[in-house]
Formats: sequence, structure tokens, C-alpha cells
Amino acid sequence: MGKIDKYLLWIMNNSSNESRKATIIMKGQFPELKRIKGVIEIETLTTTIKCTHWWLKDEENNIIDPTANHYKILNYYEEKFIKCYTCGKFCLGDHHFCSENCENLYLSKLSISLLS
Ligand SMILES: [Zn+2]
Repeated sequence: MGKIDKYLLWIMNNSSNESRKATIIMKGQFPELKRIKGVIEIETLTTTIKCTHWWLKDEENNIIDPTANHYKILNYYEEKFIKCYTCGKFCLGDHHFCSENCENLYLSKLSISLLS
């Protein structure tokens, strides 16, 4: 069994689509893991979207994501590295947009691509 196989095995047996809860439960089993809050970029049929997500990291910075198999994940961004979805400027805290204007722009682009 490889080094991260014990984590993958646990994930397979404890599948959940609720990333916040799943990372809390998994950290209870593996206290050495670190819980990370951030954003993932997901591929859908028509577009890519970003959404809030929780995952874990081991001591070697491998991403251990108990809910990864529910999405087609392209990228992980930790909270402190979140850039505005629209213009790319760094955002404060866990905000995903630098301004309301950028948020509205992103949402209007998203609804167009989901409807087309
Ligand atoms: Zn912006």
C-alpha cells in the first residue's frame, strides 16, 4: 500500500458530496492532515465554474480530497490565493470577487453559457 493509499481507501469507503463535513470527519480519522478552504475550478458540460470547496493536505502537501469524485476538478486555489473570478485581482478573505461589479459580470456570463 502506497503512502497516500490509506487516504484514498478511506475516501472510497466514506464518500460524501459535502466537502466541509467530509473534511472534518476525515481529519478526525487522520489528525495529521490539514483542512484547507478555498475554491475549485470545475469543468461542466458547457463551461468551467469556480465554487467554494474544502479539502485536506498531507504532510507532503499532497491534496487529499474526500469529495473529489463528485466533480471534474481542474484546479484548486487556497483561500489566501483566491483571485477575482472576473478580473484576476487578489481578493480579501474568502471573497471570490474584488467587487460587486465583477460578481455581476461573472454571473451574467455564466448564465449565458449555461443556457446556450
Ligand atoms: Zn474583479
